[in-house]
Amino acid sequence: MFNLIRRNVYLDNNATTYVCSSVIRTMNSVLKYHWGNPSSGYQKGKTAFHIIEHAREQVAKSINAHSHEIYFTGSATEANNSVLKTLSNHFYPKKKKIISSPIEHPSVLNTLEFLKTQGIIVQYCSVDCYGFISIEELENLIDEDTFLICCMYANNEIGTIQNILEISALAKAHSILLMSDCVQALGKIPINVKDMGVNYATFSAHKLYGPKGIGALYANISSPLTPFIHGGHQEEGMRAGTESVHNIAGFGKACRQVNQLIAKANDVKALKDYFIEKLKKIKPDTIINSPTENCLTNTISVSLPNLNSRELMMMLDNYGIAVSSGSACSSQLNKPSHVLKSIGLVDKLAEETLRISLGKDTKKGDINYTIRIIDKYLKTNRIE
Ligand code: PLP
Repeated sequence: MFNLIRRNVYLDNNATTYVCSSVIRTMNSVLKYHWGNPSSGYQKGKTAFHIIEHAREQVAKSINAHSHEIYFTGSATEANNSVLKTLSNHFYPKKKKIISSPIEHPSVLNTLEFLKTQGIIVQYCSVDCYGFISIEELENLIDEDTFLICCMYANNEIGTIQNILEISALAKAHSILLMSDCVQALGKIPINVKDMGVNYATFSAHKLYGPKGIGALYANISSPLTPFIHGGHQEEGMRAGTESVHNIAGFGKACRQVNQLIAKANDVKALKDYFIEKLKKIKPDTIINSPTENCLTNTISVSLPNLNSRELMMMLDNYGIAVSSGSACSSQLNKPSHVLKSIGLVDKLAEETLRISLGKDTKKGDINYTIRIIDKYLKTNRIE
């Protein structure tokens, strides 16, 4: 279309992040030297066991939990499934109702839809045009039958950070358990599970420069939890199966850098504001779907009227720029995002929406390059 020196610009950090070199070094050393089975009683096994326990402490420390409240899982998807399914099993048929929000990740929503087929009643509390849960409606939905509120801390598509303190106060007042998907929050905003008052929280290493295929579940010591993968005694008998020691070690190492990542939030916010300002200059009818307050500083959801976001995403890809036309989990489905629809976007506008998620290494030059490419595309295609 036009000549520009091609760069590699990754602006999809909510989908996943690269694995940072210190994490790779830790994982390599586990794979190379510490490959023993953590359950074996001799030295090689004991070393692997200690590596896991050390990582558990690192993960726990990053969210102010006790290490015995952390269970490693194969992904956050597994952790979300496990909490929802084991709790339903635990409470049903005495109590049957879960309250959630319509903007949860598919690993929550599809599990809830499955649980409905098993007799669980699921009610979704509506959200406003920025994705904030209506606390009033939430309170009205609570009844004697409710055993769980399931509400994500930060949204992966639009970046909305829920008022989890208000929600947990409500849950406590009605003696209801609270679970929060904190996958997008860890490494972006401070997390203190004790202050938040959540009973369960879920995490994933690959959103904070750790490896894929490893997640964690925080379960407060006094909250019910039953085994979710049966087999051996691993993970206190809750999640059987020989542990992925290198992935666990990598997750622990990634968590050690959480404070450094959070310290960059202001710089990232400055770049986000810069991007929005530049985008509005070249396309004044741009609509920002992300809230201005209480939003992840790296996340921007923008609707660009009369520009198909799939085509734009593919064009940007040709120039080495990675953005998303929805979340990574829904962008393959070819249907408008459930999050955008829940905040009130009509199908057409939802299909004209891009998600840009900045990372710890995003530079002003990356933003300038992206804006230049979009601008030239608008001019070449005469889209004003
Ligand atoms: N929850 C949220 C909010 C996410 O963004 C993701 C990943 O995209 C997940 C859960 C699932 O994480 P995992 O890839 O570890 O299954």
